[in-house]
Parts: sequence; C-alpha cells; structure tokens
Amino acid sequence: SLDGQVALVTGANRGIGRAVASNLHDLGATVFAATRSVTHDVPDDWEHLLVDVTQEGEISQAADEIFQSAGRLDVVVNNAGIGEFGSDIVSESVETIDRTLATNLRGPMLVCKHTVPLLLRTDGGRVVNVSSGMGAIGEGQSGGSPAYRVSKTGLNGLTAYLHGEYADDGLLANSACPGWVRTDMGGAEADRSVERGAETPTWLCRFRPGSPSGRFWRDTEPIEW
Ligand code: NDP
Repeated sequence: SLDGQVALVTGANRGIGRAVASNLHDLGATVFAATRSVTHDVPDDWEHLLVDVTQEGEISQAADEIFQSAGRLDVVVNNAGIGEFGSDIVSESVETIDRTLATNLRGPMLVCKHTVPLLLRTDGGRVVNVSSGMGAIGEGQSGGSPAYRVSKTGLNGLTAYLHGEYADDGLLANSACPGWVRTDMGGAEADRSVERGAETPTWLCRFRPGSPSGRFWRDTEPIEW
C-alpha cells in the first residue's frame, strides 16, 4: 500500500490523470491533485492545488504547499498534456509548437525542478512521466504531429536525465505509454478504457527502492524509446 506516502498528480481533474490519482488515493496515499483551473471534479478527500504547468510560479508555490502541509513527497506524476494532432512540420503552427512544448516538456521539467528536492528527502522517491509511443524514436516517428511527438521524445529524455543524475540518490524515474485511451485527447474510437490506461502509470508509482528506473514502459513491460 501507499499508506503514509504523498503523491502529486498534474492534470488530475479528468482522463488518465484523474484515474491515476484515484488509484493512488485508493492505495492509501495522500493525493495532491493539481488542476490548472477551479474544478468540481476533484473529490473532497483529495488535496487540491491549482497548477497550470506552464506557470512556474504556480509550480513552485504548489511544492511549497505540499512541504508545509505534508512535510514530504514520494511520487510525482507528470500527466498534464495537450495533443494538437496535425500533419507535417511545414503546416504545424508556431502556436501549436509553443503550446505543446510548454505543456508537455517544459512543464514536467519545471515540476521536477521544484519537486526533486522533496523527492530526494524520501527513500525511493518516484517520478512517473506519462509519455507516448508517438515519442519513441524507433516506433512511428512518421505520421504527423511533430510538436506532440518531439514533446514526448523530450519527456523521455527527461526521464533518462533524471535517472542518470539522481539514481545514486535513490530517485526512480520512469516513463509510461498508457496505450490509446478513450479520453478527450484519445477520442471515442480508442481501444482502451481510462482505467486500463492508468494501470501502468499507477504500477510505476508503486515502485520501491531497488525497482527499475530510467526506462520506458507499456503494459508493465519495458519498450524501446
Ligand atoms: P485529457 O485531454 O483527457 O486530459 C488532459 C489533462 O491535462 C487535463 O486534466 C487538462 O486540464 C490537463 N492539462 C492540459 N494542459 C495543462 C496545463 N497547462 N496545466 C495543467 N494541466 C493541463 O488527456 P489524457 O488523459 O488522455 O492525457 C493524459 C496524458 O496521457 C497526456 O500527457 C497525454 O499526452 C498522455 N497520453 C494519452 C494517450 C491517449 O490515448 N489518451 C496516449 C498516449 C499518451 P484541463 O481539464 O484544465 O484542460
């Protein structure tokens, strides 16, 4: 169980993030559900923080609030993301490029910048980055949506970086591809339920000191990045 542990989940009001937060809550963790706007979609028995991951001030304030109120942080789930799926780089708008990288890559980097100090105080702190097979270099780098793909390739790079830098300090950093999931982003045709999509990210949140780190996972198996 995750009794006594504390988790931060970004984009926790809907989709995969909400399902992961719910799982962590059911496992006994104190869950800080971060949402970018005021919402009624976070249950009363979760802690709630307002965090737009493009706003560094909101991220640093959230880390301070977690430290003040819980005194520790064990798990960070970088889930918040946007997908503006288009064709090739010639037609991708600069707005899509900026928004996508700011949310999917710069956001998780800033979340880590402000939470790694807390995670390193914990034995076996975990970072779980919700990535995508669309970011895998060896898998499907053709087919459009360059900003989204590169944002997830970069997010996997963040995972590898965190592992390289902090593995000796006990930090476990992993990426997960949830599969194609029926959320607002994935659409109604996707082959997986939200619960199924949340399974591997949740499993990574339960890693313990000595568990694998610096890997990319789907369906609890390592995949190529
Ligand atoms: P949804 O569109 O259902 O949810 C996205 C979540 O991210 C929402 O909570 C949204 O908040 C939040 N969000 C977006 N921008 C920001 C921001 N700037 N700051 C804070 N929160 C933000 O998507 P999914 O649940 O499907 O996606 C979750 C993650 O899973 C994403 O990283 C996505 O790339 C990844 N993924 C999804 C797949 C799928 O098939 N669905 C496949 C592979 C990866 P708000 O409600 O305010 O908009």
